[in-house]
Amino acid sequence: MTSPTAESMQRSGIRELMDLAWKTPGCIRLEVGEPNFPTPAHIVEAAIEALRSGRTKYVPNAGIPELREAIATKIRTSNHFEATVDQVTVTVGAVQGLFCTLLALTEPGDRVLLPDPGWPNYSMMAHILHVEKDYYVLRPENGFLPELDELEAAVTPRTRAIIVNSPSNPLGTILSADPLREVCEFAQRHQLYVISDEAYEHVLFEPGFVSPGALNASDRVVSVFTLSKSYAMTGWRVGYVVAPKTLSPIIQRLQEPQISCVTTPCQVAAVAALNGPQDVVADMMATYRRRRDALGKVLVERGINYVRPAGTFYTWVSLGGAKLSAREFVMRLLAERGVAVAPGDAFGPSGEGWVRLSLAADDDSILEGATRLADFLAEQ
Ligand code: PLP
Repeated sequence: MTSPTAESMQRSGIRELMDLAWKTPGCIRLEVGEPNFPTPAHIVEAAIEALRSGRTKYVPNAGIPELREAIATKIRTSNHFEATVDQVTVTVGAVQGLFCTLLALTEPGDRVLLPDPGWPNYSMMAHILHVEKDYYVLRPENGFLPELDELEAAVTPRTRAIIVNSPSNPLGTILSADPLREVCEFAQRHQLYVISDEAYEHVLFEPGFVSPGALNASDRVVSVFTLSKSYAMTGWRVGYVVAPKTLSPIIQRLQEPQISCVTTPCQVAAVAALNGPQDVVADMMATYRRRRDALGKVLVERGINYVRPAGTFYTWVSLGGAKLSAREFVMRLLAERGVAVAPGDAFGPSGEGWVRLSLAADDDSILEGATRLADFLAEQ
């Protein structure tokens, strides 16, 4: 017999679309959240050199010292808060950092507050940890901000944490200092941890991004980062968690049965990414900005309501009065027009009536995909 919990875990609706898109030769792929740039050469070279020089052994659970030091420096200079090396744990991307944090904080039957819409993996993690999820809704009429009275109403004695994600996947919105401070103070009042998913910390088009760790509004902030999006390193699987001093040793201990440690040459590559030239990041961001503007132009011209992203490489597009559900819409868009996009309901109940388009595709694909989407939407 297999685990009923494992059997009943719902797959991400984005992955489902990806599988279908793989089976649809020649389709335009706007469903994926993966930079379409190669990893910069100096990062690749660092990994090759690590392999050649025999850096192929186990390393400490928490990561290699030079990477943890580079991370502590980056937290100080780029995220504007202080973290000691002890507070840093290198993880298998942000995804495993988030999972390990939830593992460290929750018991079966505990509860966690999740954004709706939000990245589907949060609720998959909660499911396999037997943690109950309470969604807080990010509504367009309220600028997609968390609503404090709703948070207060949702919190229970079993609530352990709230996940915040700024810039947001899928919305592309940024939570500025004031709303983030409110969330941190709310968490402090109820002795919750704020798990801050900052996977898109560098994919910014507008000012206003701030790391909750820099607000000094709670000593219960766990910040989760990744090199995946910033440096086009999705397949390298390197992320990290910066946790309060009391929590960090527990997270590090929990790495042992899960992964032991992150792949050593990838950690060496991550040092090169963090300590090397940062213009590679700026170049990629400039490209995403150009694509965001070009896509926005098509959507405006076609009268389609969308959220102009302030960050991330996604655009959240309304289906307006279309009679089809988001899922039916994306299935038919792929089958009939050869364009794959992510259905909004994959990101939570309030995503119904929306779809997410990725800017991590080439310019022509984005424009052609948006035009076909607009034509199809006009016929509904
Ligand atoms: N958080 C968000 C909001 C994401 O969109 C993703 C990836 O798509 C991740 C975390 C995980 O990224 P990784 O595990 O590659 O670091």
